[in-house]
Amino acid sequence: MKSEVNTVNNNISSLAQAKPLASPAVQIDFLNSDDLIKFETKLESSALYPLVSSDIDIFQVNLGKMCNQVCKHCHVDAGPDRKEIMTKETMQLCLDALDSCNISTVDLTGGAPEMNPNFRWFIEELSQRGKHIIVRCNLTIILANNKYHDLPDFFAKHKVEVVSSLPHFSAKRTDSQRGKGVFEKSIEALQMLNAIGYGKADSELRLNLVYNPSGAFLPDDQKGLENEFKRRLKNNFDIDFNELFAITNLPISRFLEYLVDTEKYEDYMQELIDAYNPEAAKGVMCRNTISIGWDGFLYDCDFNQMLDLKVNTASQHIRDFNAEDLHSREIIVNQHCFGCTAGSGSSCGGTTT
Ligand code: SF4
Ligand code: SF4
Repeated sequence: MKSEVNTVNNNISSLAQAKPLASPAVQIDFLNSDDLIKFETKLESSALYPLVSSDIDIFQVNLGKMCNQVCKHCHVDAGPDRKEIMTKETMQLCLDALDSCNISTVDLTGGAPEMNPNFRWFIEELSQRGKHIIVRCNLTIILANNKYHDLPDFFAKHKVEVVSSLPHFSAKRTDSQRGKGVFEKSIEALQMLNAIGYGKADSELRLNLVYNPSGAFLPDDQKGLENEFKRRLKNNFDIDFNELFAITNLPISRFLEYLVDTEKYEDYMQELIDAYNPEAAKGVMCRNTISIGWDGFLYDCDFNQMLDLKVNTASQHIRDFNAEDLHSREIIVNQHCFGCTAGSGSSCGGTTT
């Protein structure tokens, strides 16, 4: 049987617990401390090294590490104790950057991005600019406090695409990964979104779900999972959604801690390495994405952001944003990247092949 993530959850981040692997530098050292084949070598073997970016299609903004949940696999090490959130001034720099180029999709993530006090202002500004807005909503935030109850209507007003994690269609599996009671609240939030048209076949309001494995194994076939989630959620809770994105757990942050604590690290890395797929490597999301951290620094992706691996360009902050400078940049890669290139590939939008 596939074993699941089930480490002790203290409801505070690893940083607050002073765990060594909360440090990006310690994670990088650890990822490079074994004799496993290097990611660069694999890329070279398929003539993809160095990995180079193309045009930026997606402007992904991390609004902060604060979250109402403390999920066991979280690559952000987010939680209620994290106070790092983007200021309105940095949001304005993001808007200035967007005004200087023709990137049409803005993807907001966190933590729980809705907990940033300027979240709605930022969405309104993006909406006025006609951007396609994606919000990575953890669902429970909608029910966490009265002030969030109208989020579904706010999202609908601005035609926000909602992307939400739901690791499983059973309460036991979801709660074991995301916390007690999360499944029940997630179902209620999904029903609220459905009630105003989200996820319905005849609606323009998009509601996508994200599945990630509950342990040290690769996700099953995305389409098969989507069909099963659709059937189970419809039959059991009358819930509809558009697509399911299957993503692979990358060996960083709290998932890395789990791998180390359970002595599964080497086996999991070897599984990722054995499943290396050059076609998936060609389609990794860092090639068409720029990721902006809560403090305005630029990264190739949200994972590199959490490892503090900034973009390989002369200017690394949103105040100096220049889309042309970022085009054709060499992507900073490391061992965690094997998570994006295994099997059918993995990105914020699911498989890449
Ligand atoms: S909801 Fe998302 S950001 Fe928050 S702890 Fe869970 S995985 Fe991390
Ligand atoms: S972890 Fe980031 S940099 Fe590495 S392959 Fe994935 S998206 Fe690209």
